[in-house]
Amino acid sequence: MALTHPAGLSEPDPPPSGDGNGRVTPVMEQYIEIKAANPDCLLFYRMGDFYELFFEDAEAASRALGIVLTKRGKHRGQDIPMCGVPVHRADEYLHRLIAQGFRVAVCEQTEDPAEAKKRGAKSIVQRNVIRLVTAGTLTEDSLLDAKRNNYLLAIARAKLSSTDTDSRFALAYLDISTGEFRISECDRNGLPAEIARLEPGEILVSDALYADAELTPLWRSLPVVTPLARDVFDGASAERRLAAYFAVATVDAFGALSRLELTAAAACITYVERTQIDKRPPLSPPTREAAGATLAIDAATRANLELMRTQSGERRGSLIAAIDRTVTVAGARLLSQRLAAPLTDPDAIGRRLDTVGLFVSEVDLRAELRSRLAAAPDLARALARLVVGRGGPRDLAAIRDGLRAANELAARLASAPQVAEIADAMAALRQPDPAIAAELSAALGEDLPLFRRDGGFIGAHYDETLDETRALRDESRRVVAALQARYADETQVRGLKIRHNNVLGYFVEVTAQHGDKLMTAPWNATFIHRQTLAGQVRFTSTELGALEAKIANAADRALGLELEIFDRLAAGAIAAAEDIKAAAQALAAIDVAAALATLAVERSYVRPEVDASHDFVIAGGRHPVVEQALARDGGPFVANDCDLSPPRGAQGGAQGGAAAGRIYLITGPNMAGKSTYLRQNALIAVLAQMGSFVPAKQARIGVVDRLFSRVGAADDLARGRSTFMVEMVETAAILNQATERSLVILDEIGRGTSTFDGLSIAWAAIEHLHETNRCRALFATHFHELTALSAKLTRLFNATVRVKEWHGDVVFLHEVVPGAADRSYGIQVAKLAGLPAAVIARAKLVLAELEAEDRMSPARHLIDDLPLFTAAARPAAPPPADRAADAVTKALADLHPDEMSPREALEALYALKQLAKST
Ligand code: ADP
Ligand code: MG
Repeated sequence: MALTHPAGLSEPDPPPSGDGNGRVTPVMEQYIEIKAANPDCLLFYRMGDFYELFFEDAEAASRALGIVLTKRGKHRGQDIPMCGVPVHRADEYLHRLIAQGFRVAVCEQTEDPAEAKKRGAKSIVQRNVIRLVTAGTLTEDSLLDAKRNNYLLAIARAKLSSTDTDSRFALAYLDISTGEFRISECDRNGLPAEIARLEPGEILVSDALYADAELTPLWRSLPVVTPLARDVFDGASAERRLAAYFAVATVDAFGALSRLELTAAAACITYVERTQIDKRPPLSPPTREAAGATLAIDAATRANLELMRTQSGERRGSLIAAIDRTVTVAGARLLSQRLAAPLTDPDAIGRRLDTVGLFVSEVDLRAELRSRLAAAPDLARALARLVVGRGGPRDLAAIRDGLRAANELAARLASAPQVAEIADAMAALRQPDPAIAAELSAALGEDLPLFRRDGGFIGAHYDETLDETRALRDESRRVVAALQARYADETQVRGLKIRHNNVLGYFVEVTAQHGDKLMTAPWNATFIHRQTLAGQVRFTSTELGALEAKIANAADRALGLELEIFDRLAAGAIAAAEDIKAAAQALAAIDVAAALATLAVERSYVRPEVDASHDFVIAGGRHPVVEQALARDGGPFVANDCDLSPPRGAQGGAQGGAAAGRIYLITGPNMAGKSTYLRQNALIAVLAQMGSFVPAKQARIGVVDRLFSRVGAADDLARGRSTFMVEMVETAAILNQATERSLVILDEIGRGTSTFDGLSIAWAAIEHLHETNRCRALFATHFHELTALSAKLTRLFNATVRVKEWHGDVVFLHEVVPGAADRSYGIQVAKLAGLPAAVIARAKLVLAELEAEDRMSPARHLIDDLPLFTAAARPAAPPPADRAADAVTKALADLHPDEMSPREALEALYALKQLAKST
C-alpha cells in the first residue's frame, strides 16, 4: 500500500476558497505555501478521504487521468479549478501519473482535526508533504514491476578539457525498493551503453549537464531525466552527506572512491532524502564496479539482440523471456541484472557455471529447492517498505515467511555437494537471527489486512492486554445485539435494527411505517430522531450513545495496541535489515542458478568453456529464442557451427598476430537464416558470460570485452535521423571502439544507400575490422562482390547458408557451410511471396541483363589494387566463378519453356542474344 496516514484523520477542512473579494483564506494560504515549496510536482493535497489538486495541477491531472475537472470557490476573483482522487485508490492514479512522467508531492494532514479545532473554530489542520513520488523512488508493489529493478541513477561529469570527448562520468545507481547501491565510471562513448544496461526509472543530472548541448539529444531520448540544482552535485560536501546517511565517520570503508564517484553517490542519497522526507530506505553502502568487469553492450546492440524486450517493446519474444525459469520475483530481478551485465572474468563466470552445473546433476535437490522457493515472498521489497514506513501487516508476514524459507533452504543445502556460490549463499541464509522469525510467527494472526490501520493482524494469545481489550470490545458488541432485541421487544417493532455507519455511529433504524410510532409518546422519550430517509427512519438513544462510547474506546485501544506491536515488530526487522537483505540476495542467487539448470536440462544446453584466450568455437549452436518458437510450431531448428578463433600457427602470425580473430562473411539469399545465425552466436556469448549454459553441443569462448550488433537499414525516426545516417553512426561507433577482444555482428550494412556506395562502405568496413580492430566478427551481406576479399584478407572466411532449388522454387536448408552464395535468389523469394507471375518473369529478364554487365570485374580490379597490403602473400582462395562467361548458359538454365508464353519466349530469345553480344 502506498500512503498511510494516521487513523481517524478524516474530517475535511472547508475548501481553500477565498471569499470572492480577493482575500485569501487560511487554507488557501497553506496550499499556496506548500505548492510554492514543490513547484515541479503535482501536489496531492489531502482533504478528508480525497487528495485534491488545484489550479494548473488540477488541469494537468484531469487531462492525464481523464477525471472530471470541477471548480471550487474563488481565488482573487477567479474560479479555482479542482479535481480529486479518492485516497484508497491513490496508488492506481499515482501509477498512471508517474508513467506519464509526472512527479507527485503527497501532502497529508499531520494532526487530528480535533486538535486543530481546539485552537479555535477557524483554525485549519496542519499539513505537510510526507513524500515526493517520482519514477526512480518507488517502493510499492502496485507501482513497481516485480521482475525488474527500478534504478535511480545519478550521473556526474568531470570535464578534463574544453572538448567533451575526454570527459569522465561517474554513475551512482540505487534501487530503494531493494537497497542495492552501486557506482561505476565510464567515458563519453560508454555513457549510452551504461544507461542502456541499467534502464533506470529516473536519471539525475545537474542543471549544467542537463543543458549541455552535446548531451541534450541523449537526455531527450531517455524517459525520465531530472535536472537538479548544483548543490546536489556539490563535490565538496559529497563525502559528508554520504557519511551522514550511512552514519559512518568516513566513507573510506566503502573502498577507494574517486571524488567524481562520491559526488554521484551523494547526489543519489540527497535525492532519496528529499523525496522520502525524513525516511531512510535501507540502502547498502555503495560498492564500486570495477571498470571492465562486465561485458560492454551498447543500447543499439541490446535493442538489436532483443535481450530484455523485442524491437516492438514486448517481453514476449525476448531472450529474457526465453530463458527465465525463476520461481521468485527476486530471482527474476537478479536474472535480468545478470543478463544485462554479463561478466568478463573467466573465474567469476566459472563460479556461476559451477553452481548451475551442480543443479543440473542434482535433480532432486533442484526440484526441492525450487518448490520451496516458489512459496517464498519478496523479502527485499517488503523490508524496504517497512523501513520507509509504508509497510503493512503482510510485509511483516513476508519477512516471517522469507526468513523461514531461508532457514529451510540452508538446512537442505547443508547436505548438498559444495561449490563456492552455494557456500556463500548458505552463510548468508543463516545470517538473520532466528528470533526475528520466531517473534513474527508468534505475533501475527491469520488473514492479514492490507493496511495496519484496519487492525486485527495480531493473533490471540500474543499480548495479554490486547486480548483483554478485544474481549471488552467484543463484549460490548454482544450488548448491542441484546439491546436491539430488547428495543424490538418493548416497541413491538419486529424489524427494528441497530446499525452503524461512519456519519451517525450506532443508530436505531425502523422502516418508514414505524417511524411515527417512535416519534410519539411514550417512545419519543427514549428515541431521539436523527434522520429520515425514503424508506427508513433513524434514531439514537442515551443508552446507545453510552454504549457506543464504550465500544469505540475499546476498539480504539485495541487498534492502538496493535499499532504499537506493529512498530515494535517492524523495528526488530529493520534493525536486522543488513542480514535480511543478505538472505534475500542468497535466495535470489539460488533461484537463478536452479532456474538456469532447469533451462539447461529442458532445452539441452551445455556448459560453455570460458577462458582468457581469443577463441570462439561453437559446435552445433542454436538460437535460443527462435529454437523455442520453432519448437512450439513443431519445426526443427538447424544447428550450426562457428569458429572465429585466431588462425593457428604462421598463417595468423603474418597479418593478424595470435590474438586477431576471424571474420565470417556470410552470403545467402533472403530468408536463408543469416540474421538468425549472426544473432545466435552473439547470444551464446552473452549467455556464457552471464554464467548460463548455452544452446550448443559444445562451446569454447575467449571472454569478449565488448559486443556490437548492427543491422543495416534500421529506422530511428523518433530521434530524427534518417535510416542510413543511423546505420552509419552505429557502424562508426563499432569501427572506433571494437578491440581485439570484441565480438562484432554486422548484418547487411550498407543497404540504405545506392548499390555502389553501400558496397564500397561495406568493403572498407571489413578491411578496417580485419586490419585495425582485429576483432572476431560475423558479417552478413547481400553484396556477393565482397566474397572476393577473402583472397587478400587472410582471416576473412566466406560462408554461405545453403539453399536448394526445386522446380524453380527455393528451399531453405538453414545450413551454414564454407563458400559463397552463387546468387541471391531474390526473384525466387519474391515468387514465394506471391508477386504476380508476369512480374517474376520480367524480373528474371532484367536480372539476366544486369548480370551480363558483370559486377564482379570492378571488384576483382580493386582487390589487386588494395592499398593496405600489397605485400601480402596468401594462398589464393578459389577464384570466384566468372559469371560473365557463363551468363548465357545460366540464363538458359533459368528458362522453363513449358511455363512461358510465346511472347515471353521471344523476349527471352532477344535477351539471350543481347547477353551473348556483351560477353
Ligand atoms: P536472413 O537474414 O538470411 O534473411 P533470417 O535469419 O531472418 O534470414 O531467417 C529467416 C527465417 O528462417 C527465420 O524467421 C527462421 O524462422 C528461419 N530460420 C533461420 N535460421 C534457421 C535455422 N537454423 N533452423 C531453422 N529455421 C531457421
Ligand atoms: Mg537478415
